[in-house]
Amino acid sequence: MLRKNKILTLLIFSVSIILFSFLLQKADNEGYLTDNNIIFKNVNSFTDSLFKGKNMQNKIIKSEEEWKNVLSPDQYRVLRQKGTERAFTGEYWNHFEKGVYCCAGCGAELFSSDSKFESHCGWPSYFIPLAEDRVYYVEDKSYGMIRTEVLCSKCDGHLGHVFDDGPEPTGLRYCINSVAIKFIPKK
Ligand SMILES: [Zn+2]
Repeated sequence: MLRKNKILTLLIFSVSIILFSFLLQKADNEGYLTDNNIIFKNVNSFTDSLFKGKNMQNKIIKSEEEWKNVLSPDQYRVLRQKGTERAFTGEYWNHFEKGVYCCAGCGAELFSSDSKFESHCGWPSYFIPLAEDRVYYVEDKSYGMIRTEVLCSKCDGHLGHVFDDGPEPTGLRYCINSVAIKFIPKK
């Protein structure tokens, strides 16, 4: 009798393990697995391999007081408090010179004018960052929507959101606040 119970317990245990691994595998395939809320798979396959900002070397870490001292009130509200500038009010929504757009918080080069396109949404829009590791993504469930927030890998500053209604070749639209970036013209 005792032996029978032991076998039964072992069997239930094994089945649970197999079921758990299966569910874990399924979640991973469907892109639901997150680590510290960072999305591995989100907008489409382009973002699948994207670098996780938290692993970035030479990160810039400042206290809220220090950020307040180096940023303008508008920059602080967007970059550090995840605010959004009003559409069609920023410096770059209608700006199409050749150059690079850097993070207004830390100066990291984030987007090239080559990937900027006219989205008519009122915010500067890009179809790809300058390099995969320049930004990272967090699921944003604020205001009753599910959006993908885009952050600067170097200083964790909030830049904007990414949507999957962009042009080829990525089909993505990085919708970025002008106040979170600084344009450097091409020399
Ligand atoms: Zn930054």
